[in-house]
Amino acid sequence: MNQHRASNAIGIDLGGTTVKAGLVSESGELIHQTKLPSLAEMGPDAVIGQIEKAAREIVRANPSVSVRAMGIGAPGVVDNNGFVKAPPNLKGWSAVPLAAELRKRFDGFRIEVENDANAAAIAEAKFGAGRNHPDFLFVIWGTGVGGGIILNHTLFRGPTGGAGEIGHVTIDRNGPDCNCGNRGCVEAYVGQRYLSQRAMEKLLKHPESSVHALVNSDLAKVEPLFLSQAAQAGDATARDILWESGSLLGIALASVMNIMDLRVSIIGGGISAAGDFVLQAVKESVVAHVLAPLRPDIQVLQAQLGNNAGMLGAAGLVL
Ligand SMILES: [Zn+2]
Repeated sequence: MNQHRASNAIGIDLGGTTVKAGLVSESGELIHQTKLPSLAEMGPDAVIGQIEKAAREIVRANPSVSVRAMGIGAPGVVDNNGFVKAPPNLKGWSAVPLAAELRKRFDGFRIEVENDANAAAIAEAKFGAGRNHPDFLFVIWGTGVGGGIILNHTLFRGPTGGAGEIGHVTIDRNGPDCNCGNRGCVEAYVGQRYLSQRAMEKLLKHPESSVHALVNSDLAKVEPLFLSQAAQAGDATARDILWESGSLLGIALASVMNIMDLRVSIIGGGISAAGDFVLQAVKESVVAHVLAPLRPDIQVLQAQLGNNAGMLGAAGLVL
């Protein structure tokens, strides 16, 4: 993977609804960006067509920049040959040779494909909160809970690219069903849907909470953004919900940090925007659950690259 690093590259963040494409410099500057609908409902060929279109648009709009490299962050498992396997939000993708398809369309380009959470981990390692941390566990906490492991500034993929699935660490064998088929996974407690559900139950017992007003009394609309807003304004119930979620995530993180001998965790994704209301809870929980030698050095940091992490990390595969 280390042959001829490029000085500029296209980074593609492939999602269930949008293809985001950016032109990225070797220092991580986002020079230009565009986005297109991913057309996921029309199957793999249509989606690959949209990736091609977005990339060509980037090349056309930047005639003075020589671009010969492209990285793609895709949902699902990405194997060592650039096959994308069973992404949950892309229809008909049991196993799609995405790297090979794009190499056919972009002759002479260096093309690499990686799992999207792994790509975001690479972005933080190269350009974000992980620049000064050679070894860390990256967690993307949003709709689901994904992750990536960075060792010595490099992504640890495992033998087949599946490493870092922090969301499916079991924290209670009698816990709720998870959509992976197992039960009691940390994602089944703190993934967005489950978190919103548990928040609803708690809010019903706390009519005084300001969250009720933020969602116009429609608790089906409760999402982390509102909890975060209410927590910042001092709402005790919202703070309580976020704190409990952070504590639960910390239990899973501590297991991984024990196994991998890691001290640093970097947390991105939508819920991490709640800042210290969750990060401090994660940290205290990790400290409480790791082995004593690790405790004094535990750091839980907020990711720095937000929604651009996918594009930056995808480009980072070839930069
Ligand atoms: Zn699971």
